[in-house]
Amino acid sequence: MMHQLYPQVFHDYCYELNKDMHIAAAHFIPHQLAGKCAHIHGHTYVVNITVAGDALDETGFLVNFQKLKQLVHGKLDHTLLNDHQDWFDSKNSEHFPTTEIVARKIYEVVQDYLDALPHKPKCLQVFVRETPTSYVVYRPKAGDR
Ligand SMILES: [Zn+2]
Repeated sequence: MMHQLYPQVFHDYCYELNKDMHIAAAHFIPHQLAGKCAHIHGHTYVVNITVAGDALDETGFLVNFQKLKQLVHGKLDHTLLNDHQDWFDSKNSEHFPTTEIVARKIYEVVQDYLDALPHKPKCLQVFVRETPTSYVVYRPKAGDR
């Protein structure tokens, strides 16, 4: 497992948890302006999810690491991202599987899960590295936290 430093998100919650995962997946960007990216190809995505909060659950967890892995890695690993029509839509550029939108979708899925927990942890940041030289950071707007 690669250990790397991620961009820090500033907050004043007591607890901050970070979950790393590697996701092998294929995708293509369904638009003629996407150039080479319009052809199906693969990446090993490096994902880091940051969750924070002031309270823990009855097991002493802010959020279960395994659950985060199941929600994201369990869904996307060894798949063609474009096939997940509940996450992505080849007809709407707001839902193409670009790195930016992969990061936003991961945020949305994780935050939906966290919203159902009684102690209300918050996903503050999703980092998605697509290649050794390219990554995206998604952070919700302050008003959405
Ligand atoms: Zn790509």
